[in-house]
Amino acid sequence: PVRVRFCPSPTGSPHVGLVRTALFNWAFARHHGGSIVFRMEDTDKERSTQESYDAILELWRWLGLDWDEGIEVGGPHGPYKQSERGDVYRDVLARLRASSYTYDCFCRNEEVDARRKATGSKMQGYDGFCRDLSAEQRATFEAEGRAPIVRFRMPDGSITWDDAVRGDITFETENVPDFALSRANGDPLYTLVNPVDDALMEITHVLRGEDLLSSTPRQLALFEALVELGIAKEVPTYGHLPYVMGQGNKKLSKRDPEAHALAYREQGFLPEGLLNYLALLGWAIAADRDIFSLAEMVEAFDIKDVNPNPARFDLKKAEAINASHMRLLTVEDITHRALPFLKEAGVVSDPVSDADAQLLELAMPLVTERINKLTEVGPMLDFLFVDEADFSRTDELDDAAREVVKAAYDALLPLHTWSTAAIDEALRAKLIDELGLKPRHAFGPVRIAVSGKKVSPPLFESLELLGRERSIARLRDAMT
Ligand code: GLU
Repeated sequence: PVRVRFCPSPTGSPHVGLVRTALFNWAFARHHGGSIVFRMEDTDKERSTQESYDAILELWRWLGLDWDEGIEVGGPHGPYKQSERGDVYRDVLARLRASSYTYDCFCRNEEVDARRKATGSKMQGYDGFCRDLSAEQRATFEAEGRAPIVRFRMPDGSITWDDAVRGDITFETENVPDFALSRANGDPLYTLVNPVDDALMEITHVLRGEDLLSSTPRQLALFEALVELGIAKEVPTYGHLPYVMGQGNKKLSKRDPEAHALAYREQGFLPEGLLNYLALLGWAIAADRDIFSLAEMVEAFDIKDVNPNPARFDLKKAEAINASHMRLLTVEDITHRALPFLKEAGVVSDPVSDADAQLLELAMPLVTERINKLTEVGPMLDFLFVDEADFSRTDELDDAAREVVKAAYDALLPLHTWSTAAIDEALRAKLIDELGLKPRHAFGPVRIAVSGKKVSPPLFESLELLGRERSIARLRDAMT
């Protein structure tokens, strides 16, 4: 059975690239009826923070990317925080150290650098000096009080794997230096803990970003050793997802504001809108189709269809995709989802009063077709909820506009029935038929007078919802 993992490092604010990777793993596992293991790669004590950890969980929950085993839910391969797996790593490290797959290395970085300089070698990384130390050399280092690190001995020849996204990839191991598995104080390094956990958690497919591709030959060599030692069952399939490029054809980085995944929630994106957009960063459901649901993605997802070429992050497109998902929601659903934003912005009361709830129910149908994000509801509807004393127009009206407002006032004042149809009829008769104004010149000033905005929900409906008294008051106020 397929087993994949989410394995973010809780450092900094979670990045959209992280979510794209998680989404592809999720879709792959769900397509194959497999399992998802969630482990936290928090071995970097300096950079890992609780804040980042919490942000990741919050993000995953908001997005609805669920998992079957791991942090919060438990399972047979725990603990699932690497910071709690020290014993596991020490045990594996001891077994590796007792084998010929590794050797103790006493070199200091300056010594490796000095040797490189002396020989003029261009090769980066470790030069293999301690590979075959004599007992004497070893004794000398120990007598100097040096503590060794455990270093993996890269095999000769080449390493080839059939990448799930890219097909065959080969590295000559002469270009892959022997690498450290631990620090001198015995702490295990990422190079060890990541493959060891994949082994012990019986991960079958490692789908991750292209930035990690260069570490794969090392991990594969280590994996072979883990299999030989009976620690791993089998080497997983690796697949490297394309880079996500931001502005100016540079990799999207944590410094780019559009990279912060939780910011999309704050901006009023729908989780399904964001996920749909992120799915397009390397994958397509069909040549001419952009909009799909998660269920459709799961149904259609084949890792072989992922495009290995860099994907471009396009905020405009993300917003358009989100807008399409907004159109798929019922008015009730949008209202429900917009409510926290409306409370937060102080548009409606919190908890929402019956009066506000009723007004919202009537007003929402006027705006659902006009908004692309949940945060846009408030600025469109706030004029309906604000007290008269707090109402203020953003646009000033010139003399001609004030004349129009006065005419509208005269037309509406005698109205008996305050309905959209009656308001429509009265305003048209006065402003268009009698005064001969163009609709834009007729209704623009009225719109500003009652809503304070140049753009509002449909005017006659808005007037009806605002009510006779408030509408008349605002018109009177605007014409003087
Ligand atoms: N924790 C690693 C990272 O966040 C993931 C490594 C992997 O997917 O193998 O970069």
